[in-house]
Amino acid sequence: MITGALLAAGVFLTVAAVLLDVRQDAWDRVRDASANLTLAVERDLSSEIRAIDLTLRAVAGLMARTGFEHSSADLREALVLERLSSSRYLDAVVILDEHGDAMFDTRQHILPTTVNFSEQDVFAAHRDRPDVGLFISAPYPSRLVDRLWTIGVSRRLSYPNGNFAGVVLAAVQVQDLQAAFEGMRLGSRGTMTLIREDGVVLARNPADARLLGRDLGSAGPVRQMQLARSGQFLAVAAIDGVERFYTYRHLDGAPLIFNVALAVSDIYDSWWRKAALISGLTGILVIAMLTMVIRLHRELARRKDAELATRRSETSFRLLAENSSDMVSHIDLVGRRLYVSPAAAEIFARPLEELMGRAALDDVAPEDRTFVQNSFRRLWRGERTITFEARILRPDGEQVWIEASARPLLNDATGKPEGYVTVARDVTDRKLAEARLTALARTDALTDLANRRVFDEALDREWHRARRNEAPLSLLLIDADRFKLFNDSYGHLAGDACLQRLADAAAEIGRRPADVVARYGGEEFAILLPKTGAADAGLLAEGLRAHIETLALPHEANPPAGVVTVSIGVATACPWPAPDCTPVALVAAADASLYRAKQSGRNRVVAAPDTVPMGSVR
Ligand code: GH3
Ligand code: MG
Ligand code: MG
Repeated sequence: MITGALLAAGVFLTVAAVLLDVRQDAWDRVRDASANLTLAVERDLSSEIRAIDLTLRAVAGLMARTGFEHSSADLREALVLERLSSSRYLDAVVILDEHGDAMFDTRQHILPTTVNFSEQDVFAAHRDRPDVGLFISAPYPSRLVDRLWTIGVSRRLSYPNGNFAGVVLAAVQVQDLQAAFEGMRLGSRGTMTLIREDGVVLARNPADARLLGRDLGSAGPVRQMQLARSGQFLAVAAIDGVERFYTYRHLDGAPLIFNVALAVSDIYDSWWRKAALISGLTGILVIAMLTMVIRLHRELARRKDAELATRRSETSFRLLAENSSDMVSHIDLVGRRLYVSPAAAEIFARPLEELMGRAALDDVAPEDRTFVQNSFRRLWRGERTITFEARILRPDGEQVWIEASARPLLNDATGKPEGYVTVARDVTDRKLAEARLTALARTDALTDLANRRVFDEALDREWHRARRNEAPLSLLLIDADRFKLFNDSYGHLAGDACLQRLADAAAEIGRRPADVVARYGGEEFAILLPKTGAADAGLLAEGLRAHIETLALPHEANPPAGVVTVSIGVATACPWPAPDCTPVALVAAADASLYRAKQSGRNRVVAAPDTVPMGSVR
């Protein structure tokens, strides 16, 4: 704010200084120009009047030597006429005798009527004051020619004995003088004036007949001009009250003063116009600049606040991220990590620097990559959050499980994600425990075979799969013969060991991936055989029965074999159309076959007489 004000003040001061300088320049120019002009005009006038004076002196000299009227007419003409033609201002030469009568005029050699000058100041001045020298009259209307305003430049004529003999007078027309001033540009109220040293006005530009002959001797400016031979000063003119800048010079060799007076208002007029324009423009610029400074100031303050807020939230975020055992990472759209919190080093078993900038997918176990990629695509399509579990591949080949959630960082303008933030933690231990529990829940502890629940699920699943695939499904139910007696004879622990041997034998039979071998009850086992018809199932059952018999596990109370034997009931379901078909029908059929095997002497395989219809999807 203060800077803005100082800046504005600085601009104004500079402009003011420049304008003042320009004003001074204008003044200096006017002063020099006026001085030069005055000097030039003064020199011109001086030399012209000197030339006129030379003529007057020549006539006076002739008069003093011989008496003018006695000299020859030729001589008089040679003296005067030649000079008349060479002078710009000299209009005529008139000679007055001692009574004031014009006895010679260059315009009329022989005057028609006598014109008497005795009443005029020219005549009186020379008659009364022999030492007056060059005398210049006030302007008077010529009585001889057209009554034009005329100035008389004169010298005294004396007889050889020194007595007053008259006056020789050179007539100069005011209009000729004024014509020499014309064409000078002095501004609207500037003037050029030629005055006598006593203040009588002889010629003026602009021309003003009322002022001709007026005595300004008492006026301030004229008084000032009488003080020195030349000079410049400011004064208010008595005639019109205008303040002017006067430049004057006394003529060399004549009692005259020439002056140029320029109106102060004219000198400064154009400067004022320029100053007003420049000040106005500067004002507008400064206001615009101040407005911008204020806006900038506000914007900066707003940004500072926002930055502070961001920094605060960043600090809290870092505090959370850096101290959490969860890993926080910022991923860009192509999946490169831009930030990852310290917990990541432990999860990935890599230094943080190595993780930063690396493609996040490269650390996912290959088997989970597609799934993870698809999960992130859901964020791109507009979901706001996803959670998933995936395996991480460490540099040493070990895999760890992570549980992660990810959110998109949305662009304010487009609403599209610019990147993602994921929070993940190592859940390997939990995963292992879960796997163990699941396994436990599905396995029979004694035999390591699938338990009854798994069998039931498998039966249901395989039943429907077989129906879809229109493939047969066979079931073997195996029961140890007279096993109660085995326990009675050899003890329960031996019974358990025997059951394990039987389980191993059963597992040998159902080795295909889809086969399910389960402990169905106490000393009963079930083998589910998908895509297996009745004939194959019968063969497999017979193979198992025979194999167990050949194990030759002693069982005295089981005649006639005397070794451990099993009875097996076999049933097969086929995809034939029928109403109310359920997997239970297959179990019931196998159970019925097993019952018949027991009834008919044990240690044998009995197959169900009919296949069980399982219905059809068509
Ligand atoms: P059969 O089937 O030939 O008609 O005679 P059985 O004696 O095998 O028939 P029953 O079903 O009456 O007897 C089953 C016996 O199996 C009862 C029980 O002592 C024994 N048994 C069941 N489960 C276990 C077990 O987990 N361990 C041991 N050692 N014996 C078991
Ligand atoms: Mg039984
Ligand atoms: Mg039994």
